[in-house]
Amino acid sequence: MTRTISSPSAKIDAFLRDQNVPTPFVVVDVDLVEERYVQLVEAIPQARVYYAVKANPALAIIERLVRLGSAFDVASPAEIDRCLEAGAKPDDISYGNTIKKRRDIAYATSCGVRRFTIDVEAELDKVAAEAPGASVCVRLRHECGGADWPLSRKFGAEAPDVVRVLGLAAEAGMESGVSFHVGSQQRDLLAWDDTLSVVAEIIDRARNQGANPTFVNLGGGFPGTYREASPAITAYGTAVRAAIAKWFPDGIAEIMVEPGRYLVADAGVLRSEVVLVSRRSPEDSERWVYLDCGKFHGLAETMDEAIRYRLRTPHDGQLSGPVVLAGPTCDSADVLYEKSAYELPLALAEGDMVDILSTGAYTTTYSSVGFNGFPPLHEHYV
Ligand SMILES: *Cc1c(COP(=O)(O)O)cnc(C)c1O
Repeated sequence: MTRTISSPSAKIDAFLRDQNVPTPFVVVDVDLVEERYVQLVEAIPQARVYYAVKANPALAIIERLVRLGSAFDVASPAEIDRCLEAGAKPDDISYGNTIKKRRDIAYATSCGVRRFTIDVEAELDKVAAEAPGASVCVRLRHECGGADWPLSRKFGAEAPDVVRVLGLAAEAGMESGVSFHVGSQQRDLLAWDDTLSVVAEIIDRARNQGANPTFVNLGGGFPGTYREASPAITAYGTAVRAAIAKWFPDGIAEIMVEPGRYLVADAGVLRSEVVLVSRRSPEDSERWVYLDCGKFHGLAETMDEAIRYRLRTPHDGQLSGPVVLAGPTCDSADVLYEKSAYELPLALAEGDMVDILSTGAYTTTYSSVGFNGFPPLHEHYV
């Protein structure tokens, strides 16, 4: 029997079959995370992997990645602590959040973390003061066209400002590099080429001003497997390697990549239970399907129906019809899909289990602590 990596593993299916645990929950197969890590390293062998911990900070995942030699991109002291607890070396931790409290920079420094991402002079000043001798990564703003979950406007500086901040970092005696993020779930393979052309020009200009950026951070953006297809990781690898060769013919001293979604999304399945199937009137062709899991149970990326998950039900293959899919809480924002033309089997009924696939990333930590008295999403690692 063949299995694509994007369908649940035998281990996950065994867990779903044998374990009678309360729904909703996410179950993650940590071996699949390892498989994905190996595939990404094969696709872009010249880059060091810094796992974006925010995608799923479970200890089981970080411990496995430590064993594989991964480094880590963190956003807070708690994520630093988690990585250190899992056995990561402080040298292998990059503080990638461009917005940091001074005391958090100081805390990171006391832990031995030496690399910080910034995008403006005011943040450079904070890092220079609290982390003397650290190296800074200056983030370039990127228009995230082609990404299902864009990240553009909140982060990054325009190219001339990146050059200026690199110059200031050099004056402060700090090592530096340039980073960007092409947007999460980026399905346009040319996104990296576009941005690397700008990065190459930035580095050229910075050198003319006495700075010497030594590393380039390619960010994340590599895909999970959702309803709309995305290219294979080998295609991303080919595109990224070609862009590096084209814009940096003399090479780059150090290349970083910060995958979050790609490493963990497909490794997880979220199991939920149907609470109610209703029609507003008998002749209504559209059914409302209410699950015991919604926007407040970790499915935050269904905001604006941006991430469209694949669903699995016990009646797949039978006659189906249109549905609106909603969560169980008393908030009208708790609707998952209303405009994305989801269909589910007509036989679907109260008590059936609906599996939401590729939910290993950006779910568990997005769950509310107890809205309406519902507990946070449970998580299991196998
Ligand atoms: C969220 C984030 C990532 C991970 O992005 P994915 O699209 O999940 O791979 C990488 N780098 C930074 C700075 C991030 O904020």
